[in-house]
Amino acid sequence: MPATILSGRTVRDALVPELIKKIEALSFVPTLAIIQVGTREDSTAFINAKRRFAAKIGVQEKHIQLPETISEAELISKIQECNDDASIHALIVQLPLPPHMNRDKVIAHIDPAKDADGLTTGAKVMPATARGIRELLAFYHVPISGKKVAVIGRSLLVGTPVAEMCRQAGAQVTVCHRGTPDLVKETQAADVIIVAAGSAGLIRKDHVREGQIVIDVGINTSSEGKMVGDVSREVADVVAMITPVPGGVGPMTVCALFENVLDLCK
Ligand code: ADP
Repeated sequence: MPATILSGRTVRDALVPELIKKIEALSFVPTLAIIQVGTREDSTAFINAKRRFAAKIGVQEKHIQLPETISEAELISKIQECNDDASIHALIVQLPLPPHMNRDKVIAHIDPAKDADGLTTGAKVMPATARGIRELLAFYHVPISGKKVAVIGRSLLVGTPVAEMCRQAGAQVTVCHRGTPDLVKETQAADVIIVAAGSAGLIRKDHVREGQIVIDVGINTSSEGKMVGDVSREVADVVAMITPVPGGVGPMTVCALFENVLDLCK
């Protein structure tokens, strides 16, 4: 039997009216600043998705585009300007940054009270991908408390916060990465597999078994130029539930980012 599709678009659309109501109840229009350094196409595409969603729900978005060649000090001073600007309520720096910059040093300059990506020490919100996955699972009544969850990938923005979210929800979490000796063994042992490795086709039929739930966080471009996840198509014929790419975790991440913005406005 083919897997049940966990549709992020459906959940997002169900959450939008509530989000709009909460934004309308504020006495001001929330403003999110998005700082982009350089012109990476993938970053621009992610930012455009955020801008479209902002327009739909009534959040003002300020796209600050800086040249690739800007120095780290100049970027930090731009961040500080946003921190000091009372008309900006939330701020994200689109990652990745160019190689001549120290990401952690840059992020540390974001005011935690405006940090909508939840990356600073003292952040008030959870990183959007983790929050989005939590809400997707809740919508489809998939409890992870007491379940074995394998998270593949341990990046700052995705793998690490997703693993932390699952631990907080009471799951027994195994984090896998490039150095994991036997990935098949780890995924086979899991009830829920969350894949955030950024590697198309990483998870195949032999990694999975019946009854499992697979959350595909990957966003890759196939050789034909299509958007594909980290999970091979045939996996959907085996497992119980799976998120599609596109239309799974992506829309949930965008939605959760704006829930973060709203939380920072309160
Ligand atoms: P993202 O931004 O999607 O999280 P990163 O490139 O920052 O991507 O991180 C990728 C993560 O995925 C790393 O933690 C890495 O160890 C993990 N990873 C990549 N390839 C594999 C693989 N073949 N098996 C297991 N883990 C992998």
